[in-house]
Amino acid sequence: MNTEKNILIIEDEKGIRNFINNALTANGYRTTLAENSKTGRSLFLSACPDLVLLDLGLPDGDGMDLLKEFREWSGTTPILIVSARDKEAEKVAALDFGADDYITKPFGMSELMARVRTALRHLDHSENSAAADTIIQVKDLTIDIAKHTVTRSGEEIHFTQNEFKCLALLGKYAGKVLTYDFIMKNIWGPYSPSDNQILRVNMANIRRKLKENPADPKYILTELGIGYRMLVDN
Ligand code: CA
Repeated sequence: MNTEKNILIIEDEKGIRNFINNALTANGYRTTLAENSKTGRSLFLSACPDLVLLDLGLPDGDGMDLLKEFREWSGTTPILIVSARDKEAEKVAALDFGADDYITKPFGMSELMARVRTALRHLDHSENSAAADTIIQVKDLTIDIAKHTVTRSGEEIHFTQNEFKCLALLGKYAGKVLTYDFIMKNIWGPYSPSDNQILRVNMANIRRKLKENPADPKYILTELGIGYRMLVDN
């Protein structure tokens, strides 16, 4: 099933580029490699990749500019940012400019594959979204959008309206990080308060009701300085 998918890797560090390339080809993906912006730009247009892995620090230009160009040319091709640690503002900016997710260096093969699978799944999902959106299954949680219920192993857990909306939004994009700003605007609208206090309170309540262990969350991970991610793979 993976064999049809072509992934464009734009990364100037040879070691990382080779590592990503080996990991993807070992898992049955086809790859196209670029070591700078110029080659990345032309391969994006000529190779029509199904997904792009984009390093932001490139020798001949800012990866962020490339991201903006790619988004103008294609609104749907998933783009994963390959980013250094301690660059939270950069990650948030990239997500706001339409990146689908990011992966932080150094990363292992299983984390890379999980991010790639998630991004490709959301692409498939958005192509036939109408039917799939009514019931969301994440691990042992069933989120029923129409009935407004959440059950775990058949047992209902009660949430307030806003808690339910937060949980359903995270579930809809399970595996993908959602920024504070994205969640706030989705739930509380375009004029939502600029601080995230109301969101943090709702998330704390959701976690308490799910009986999450903060040290080892099973369902919802806090991405410090960025947002929240619903966990799917572990
Ligand atoms: Ca780099």
